[in-house]
Formats: sequence, C-alpha cells, structure tokens
Amino acid sequence: MAGVVRTIPDKCRRCYTCVRYCPAKAIKVEEGQAKVIEERCIGCGNCYKVCAQSAKEIKSSVAEVRDLLAGPAPVLACLAPSFPAAFPDLIPGQIASAVRALGFAEVLEVAFGAELVGRAYARLARERPDHLVITTPCPALVAYVEKYAPSLLPNLAPIVSPAIALGRVIREKYRPEARVVFIGPCIAKKQEIDEPSVAGVIDAALTYLELRQMWDEAGIDPASLPPGAFDGPPPAIGRIFPVSGGLLKTAMLRGDVLENDILVTEGRDNVLEILKTLRSDRDALEVRFLDVLFCEGCIDGPAMDDRLSIFARKERVANYVRSTCTPEARASFEAALEEYGSIDLSRTFCDRSIALPVPTEEEIAEILRQTNKFTREDELNCGACGYDTCREKAIAVYQGLAEAQMCLPYLIDQLEENVAKLKLFQRELRETQDQLIQSEKLASMGQLAAGVAHEINNPLGSVLLYADLLYRELPSGDPRRDDLRLILDEARRCKSIVQALLNFARQNKVLAQATDVNRLCRETVEEVERLPLFEKVRFLWQLDPELPVIRADPAQLRQMLINLLNNAAEAMPEGGTVTISTRHVSAGGDGVEISIADTGCGIPEENLPKLFTPFFTTKPIGQGTGLGLAISYGIVKMHRGSIDVQSKVGVGTTFVIRLPATLPVGEDTGEVAGGRI
Ligand code: ADP
Ligand code: MG
Repeated sequence: MAGVVRTIPDKCRRCYTCVRYCPAKAIKVEEGQAKVIEERCIGCGNCYKVCAQSAKEIKSSVAEVRDLLAGPAPVLACLAPSFPAAFPDLIPGQIASAVRALGFAEVLEVAFGAELVGRAYARLARERPDHLVITTPCPALVAYVEKYAPSLLPNLAPIVSPAIALGRVIREKYRPEARVVFIGPCIAKKQEIDEPSVAGVIDAALTYLELRQMWDEAGIDPASLPPGAFDGPPPAIGRIFPVSGGLLKTAMLRGDVLENDILVTEGRDNVLEILKTLRSDRDALEVRFLDVLFCEGCIDGPAMDDRLSIFARKERVANYVRSTCTPEARASFEAALEEYGSIDLSRTFCDRSIALPVPTEEEIAEILRQTNKFTREDELNCGACGYDTCREKAIAVYQGLAEAQMCLPYLIDQLEENVAKLKLFQRELRETQDQLIQSEKLASMGQLAAGVAHEINNPLGSVLLYADLLYRELPSGDPRRDDLRLILDEARRCKSIVQALLNFARQNKVLAQATDVNRLCRETVEEVERLPLFEKVRFLWQLDPELPVIRADPAQLRQMLINLLNNAAEAMPEGGTVTISTRHVSAGGDGVEISIADTGCGIPEENLPKLFTPFFTTKPIGQGTGLGLAISYGIVKMHRGSIDVQSKVGVGTTFVIRLPATLPVGEDTGEVAGGRI
C-alpha cells in the first residue's frame, strides 16, 4: 500500500466528512469514493479518526516488524511517552513485559529522547530570542509546512523529534548494532522515519493498534504478565511530553497568559489558522515560540485506544510521571544525560510544495453554474460537500479534487425535479393506457357495428326499394300511401343510422384531396349559423394564417365539424361562444390542429370515457342519437388523426382534433374531388 492512509474500496459512503477534516486537501472524491492522494497527505490521521464507516486503513508495519524480529540483529522497541494512556487495561510495567514477550531485545522509553529535545529547544529559545521558532516534534505539522507553507520553513526548529533523538542515541552510542522499532499513537511517524534528513535511524514505526494486533496474533495476554522494567537511558519529567504543553514543561519554558512570546496551539483548525496568519504576515503576532501539533497532544493521536477520554489519558500520563520521579531515578537520569547529552539533534527541512492550478473567476463561475449557482445568494455555503464554501469547492473541482455533483442542496433539487418528472411520466402513461383501452374498446365495437350494419344494409335496401315501388304504384288519394310514406321515412332513418355506424367503423373511403382547413371551417360555420339552433351562439376565430393545406376528405371533415358544432350549440341553450382555432403542428409529424371550444354546460368526468361510444347520449329520446361523436371519431381515425376532449362542468368543453398533413400512400386515393372545397 502506497501512502500511510488509504480508503478501503466500497466502504466509503460519500459523507465527505474526511474531506471536511483533511487539513491538506489531500482527499479526492472520484466516482463517489474519497481517495487519499499520497503526495498531498501529511499523515495527520484526521480522516482515519473521523470516518464513521471505518473506511480508512492505515498502512500496516506488522509484517516488516515481524521480519526484523526474525532477523539476527537485536530489535529495540522505543515506546512513545503516551504509552501509559494507550492501554486502559494495563499498567505501564505490563506493557514493557508484553512488548518484550514479542521478541524485542529491549524496551526503551522515547521520553528520554524528549528530554534531549526539550533541552535543545531551551537552548534555541535562548540563543535566538527574536526569531520565530515553530516546534517540530509533530511530523504532520512538519509535512504541512514543507508542502503547504514553505515560506515558514526557516522558522521550523531544526531539531529532530524525540523518537529520532532516541534513535540516534541508540545508533550512535547505546547499541549501534541493534534495529530500532518505534511504537506510538502516530500515523505520520511512518512517513517521518523515511525523510532524508532523519532516514536510517528508525527501522519501522508501529502503532499501538498494531502492537495490540501482534499480541493477539501471538496469543499474548499482556494483562496476565507481571510488570517488567524498562531498558535504556531513563527519562524524568520528559514523560509528560505527549500531554498538551508537554514540550514547554520538558524544556522548562514557561508560557504565561500575560506574555505573548510563547504560544501552544493544537488541532486542525487552530493550526491552519495560525499558519495562515503567519504566512501572510510574519509579524502579525508577537509570538516567538510556537508549539503546534495537529492532535491535542500525542495522547490524542489517531492510533490511540479511544475508550479513555482525553482527560483520563492525561491523568494516566501525569500519574506515571509522578510515580517515576524518585530521587534515585533522578540520579540515573542525570547520569544518562551526561552520557548521551552530546548527541547531534539537528535536522533539515525541504521545500516540497505542490502547486495546484488556480482557476480564473470565470472558470469558478462556470463550475458553480453546473450546480445551479448563478448568484451569490445561490451559494448556500452549507459545508455538506466537505468544503467550507461553495467557492472553495468549485476551486477543488477545478483542481480535480472534488466532483461538481457533490452538492447536497443541488442533489435535493435534482431529486425533487426527477420525482416531479416521474409523476408526470406516470400520469402520461396512465392516460395513454386509458386511451389504448378506450380505442381498443371502440375498435371492437366498430367491428360489431360494421357487421350489423352490413347485414342490415341489404334487407333495408330491399325494404326501401319495394316500399317505394308500392308507393308509386298506388294512386294518389289511396289511404295506404300514408302508411307507405311512414315505412319509407323510418327505413331511411334506419339507413342513415347504418351509414353512421359504417362511418364509426371506418368502413368508408377517404376521398383525399388538397384541403384548406381554415376555409372549410369558415364555410361550415357559415352554413350552420343560419339554423335556429345557432341563434344565440357567437363565433370567435383564431385561425392560423400559416396553416398548411392538408390531404383530407373535405366532405367527411365537414360532417365532423357539423357534429361538433351541433353538440356545442346544444350544450349552450341559453347561448354562448364557440371559439374555433387552428394551428400548424410539427411535433409528431407535420399536421394541423383544430380546436372547437364552447362555453356550455361541460361534461361530467364520469361521462368522458363513454363519449365516443355509439349510442351514448345524455339527451332525451328523439333529440339525441348518440352517434355524432362516434361518427366524428371514425372520421378522424380514418384520417389517421386524433381527437381529444377537455371539459369542465359549468365552464365549457373543448374538442381538439389533430390531422396529419398527408395520408399514407394507399389511403390517399390521389383524387381531387370537385365541389365546394
Ligand atoms: P348526441 O349529441 O346525439 O347526444 P353525440 O355523440 O354527439 O350524441 O354526443 C354524445 C354526448 O356527449 C352528448 O349527449 C353529450 O352528453 C355529450 N357532449 C358532446 N359534446 C358536448 C359538448 N360540447 N358539451 C357538453 N356535452 C357534450
Ligand atoms: Mg350530437
């Protein structure tokens, strides 16, 4: 595994919490997964700490340590000073015994390195009182300055961390032939031990969690072991180093709230804030000695057992310090200091800054537009994406670190829009289904009607023929002539019903010719408006002057228009208006749309599905046959068109007819009928 932290594929659930907590913008969201960018990562472990899904994994050094232990050289374990707080169930001596049980030759306390480092800081503060010194035991802080605040490199204290200090003691004097393994709460240590100016001092960095894993795998129960002693040079007050302000205490520097020259600050936000301030203006603050850590002391490190609160951890460390500070211990500490105090603790830093492309204002605006942010007010800065502001996120998108779509308010809007669209689709689907059922019903009815009509047509023709013959043969004045007249009238009425049924069943031919629908409408209205039924009807016109001439049967269309106009007039016994509109339509093929809207009584919703069914009528017997709409429907269908109705009771009814501009070859006879149109 490259890098010290990585995302476990598919465990990441897109909460963007790690993006929010990463101080280095080292997390890139790609295909919904938050990936750690190795070159940008500073190893602070924030992402590991905050991930509720446990989707972050720390690079394991267990195999490496096992190899060292299996090798010929003695392996020395260097326990970070936070160890008394790392295992709530163990006392410090048991930890030493359990580490030794794994095969380590010796177990040393890194706190001795902290003693040396503390003294180096005291010297530095004395020697350069006017120079701003930033402390460097926190490897994440060092990496941050090297990568993102290189202008502060001259201010980094050129002093190694306590772990490296102890490592150098071992290498140079204490046991040069040994291999050294650091064990602590820190992830960044895994990076630090390979940095050029300190590389080769520590062979591997193990976390407390990995140590626990090794015990488990080796079947060691540390709680059952008797407490053992530590090896190597003994520390004293330096054991307090992992607690907030521990460096000052070890270096015997005093931070006073009334004095501004020494400042201790910790945690991602504070560290970023103070570095930003100092970067823009070194003299913005009076501070001259700045102790900064990404965690709240090393006892808050990412690989600490978090069953104990930070306060309980501090107490454990302090108790350990007090219990070990005896006069005898003090004497052996002084002796060790005498022996190893001259070890070189210096180190250097390098500029490892990574420049990211900076977008122009227009490029930022363009990215913001992708999530519907057009004005300042649209930028909600809700932080759900992991960035403090929409602008910061847009910049991250430009830099390839974030995805434009990771915007919660935008996604909610999208979701609502999609739900609305889905509802619309569902409604359309339902309507289409209803129409399909309706047209299938009408089609089967048409078949029945056509069958009956055909069967009746011939005998009816005979009735008419012979009744007419008889009528003509009888002399005028013969009383039987009246009966025959009645037979003839009724038979003709039957004939027209049969004709209507054949129309409905689309059994008639379309005699297509070039038809000017506007003209046809005008002429039909001219014809009907003289009738008494239309006395109180006012006509309004909205005819499209650009309406194309279509191929249609004008006589049939005229019939259809008359049927619709009759219904409109009958729906407005007290009078009203009929608006006739036409319009050129191109969606779904070139064609025309005719709409006939009245201000009549309207049609109750329950009647709508029955409208085009033959013999459906709401009119009294003798007034309505219920065939007008059925015929119109047949005519429209013969023209490959559609007829729809919208109606509101008490408001009015609109019939909308769509006709294609041309008829399919085969149905268009190509004839141009003579006559009025
Ligand atoms: P009819 O007019 O002989 O009743 P139609 O097929 O022409 O038969 O019409 C069927 C029924 O549809 C009518 O009886 C009426 O209830 C209803 N209808 C049709 N057009 C309208 C309209 N414009 N306004 C109100 N109701 C209408
Ligand atoms: Mg009618």
